[in-house]
Amino acid sequence: MADILLPPSTSPADFRSFLKSCEAAVGAEWVKFSVADVTPYGHVAMPFDDDDHMPSAAVCPSSIEEVKAVVAIANRMRVPLWPTSTGRNIGYGSSSVADRGTVVLDMRRMNRITDFDPDLGTVVVEPGVTYHQLQDFIQATGHNFWLDFPGPGPIVSPIGNTLERGHGVTPYGDHFAHSCGFEVLLSDGTLFRTGLGGVTDTTSWQAFRYGYGPTLDGIFTQSNFGIVTKMGLWLMPAPKAHKTVIAHWPDPSDIVRLTDVVRGLRLDGTIQTEGVLGNAGIFLAATRRKADVYDGSGAIPQELAIAELKKMGLGAWNYVFTLYGRPDRVESDWKEAKARLEAAGATLIPDAKDEQQINELTLKSFALFNWIGGVGLTWCAPVAPMRGADMQRQLRLAQSITDRHGVDFMVGTAFGERAALNVMPLIYDRADKAQMARVRACYTEMVDAMAKAGFGMYRTSVGFMDQVASLHGQANLDINRRIKRALDPSGIIAPGKSGIRV
Ligand SMILES: Cc1cc2nc3c(=O)[nH]c(=O)nc-3n(C[C@H](O)[C@H](O)[C@H](O)COP(=O)(O)OP(=O)(O)OC[C@H]3O[C@@H](n4cnc5c(N)ncnc54)[C@H](O)[C@@H]3O)c2cc1C
Repeated sequence: MADILLPPSTSPADFRSFLKSCEAAVGAEWVKFSVADVTPYGHVAMPFDDDDHMPSAAVCPSSIEEVKAVVAIANRMRVPLWPTSTGRNIGYGSSSVADRGTVVLDMRRMNRITDFDPDLGTVVVEPGVTYHQLQDFIQATGHNFWLDFPGPGPIVSPIGNTLERGHGVTPYGDHFAHSCGFEVLLSDGTLFRTGLGGVTDTTSWQAFRYGYGPTLDGIFTQSNFGIVTKMGLWLMPAPKAHKTVIAHWPDPSDIVRLTDVVRGLRLDGTIQTEGVLGNAGIFLAATRRKADVYDGSGAIPQELAIAELKKMGLGAWNYVFTLYGRPDRVESDWKEAKARLEAAGATLIPDAKDEQQINELTLKSFALFNWIGGVGLTWCAPVAPMRGADMQRQLRLAQSITDRHGVDFMVGTAFGERAALNVMPLIYDRADKAQMARVRACYTEMVDAMAKAGFGMYRTSVGFMDQVASLHGQANLDINRRIKRALDPSGIIAPGKSGIRV
């Protein structure tokens, strides 16, 4: 054990004793502390050295009883734990930890689907269940439900994604909004259920989100107040018909009219899904390698990216959305959307395909990693209100910063009804330390500049959580700390998550 990393404020003797107790609780093979076993947990794509956010160990329970036992040991010995579900939060920190040396509580082995209600279209899952497993399960029942999943759907978990308030691209794309009922373990061993889950023999835990009294689910997302051991989620009845369309616009300045027209179509329900709006940069990166289209240094010029997209029959902005419903509804929504999008200058490709929008699991989005090579990625995700002028202001600001740092400007937008999440992958080669430093500086400047311009972030990586938290106001920091002190007074659950510590 001579060269192993220790958890913060823990002596080697105490750490040894912690590991021994965990081995007794979960079995020796499920407590990992050798450098070879722990290093993969610290592999990150975000622009930090792996070592900066390296855990000291990982403990892998297989049941709620084992989680309880590990939490009791951690609480008694004051060893911090970082809970993960499938641990593939790639570009946001993967399964690394905010405070170096924190022990990962890896819940991949807890992979049971504990309830399925075909009438209400609901399931209850444990943290280790993946979307792939859930889709196989539903298909085996013969019931016709769809799932909404994020880009890496096959290999990631509904719980991990929902707790990050992640998004997909169907009408059920806001994952937290389609969750219903958490089971949560607190650091003192209290196990409780949100919503109506506390009613003896509850009939409606997965049917009614709010329960009685304060609705608590939200405080367990993007937070470190408890460990979620089960979650209910709603399934989307398979639509009778669907039609995927790409609307594209030729010029960067078209962002104003396209945002305004899409807002109208989203608000009146013609387009029921966020879909995805991509600029030329992100569409190019999804299909090409940078070296094949640009041999200069720094960021690829936008005019060049747009020219390449035009050769592919696309534009400066490309909005991929799907209409869902009965065939007559899809037909009538299509007529309406077509008329309004064309009036706003769009060219339409009416019979497109996006697997993620039609319940087909795919890992296609990983093609982004081929753009430069070297698996460096961090997502910068400012929120804009769905107003053309604000979108343009935010995206121009973002591009001025990426250009200055020589980082390629890419954006994939989730179009809500009133808010747009402008998710920008900052891509680089991890082997090139200078590039990594540029991306890090770019991200840091972006967060500050966005806050000065009145824009907050939707989500961030473990390496930037303190910075992002500091920009959301002292009162906000204080209230989070007060809740943390009440629910986890020793601060053993995920210290530093979203900038929250005791
Ligand atoms: C190419 C690519 C495309 C992507 N596309 C998308 C996308 O479309 N949408 C999207 O949302 N994301 C996307 N991502 C980001 C990320 O991979 C997903 O969000 C993924 O679902 C998160 O990983 P996970 O499900 O394994 O969660 P985990 O890594 O298990 O969890 C994420 C975090 O949530 C907390 N947490 C997890 N489980 C628990 C628990 N049980 N109790 C308490 N806290 C917990 C922890 O802080 C943890 O670090 C993409 C990533 C890549 C590389």
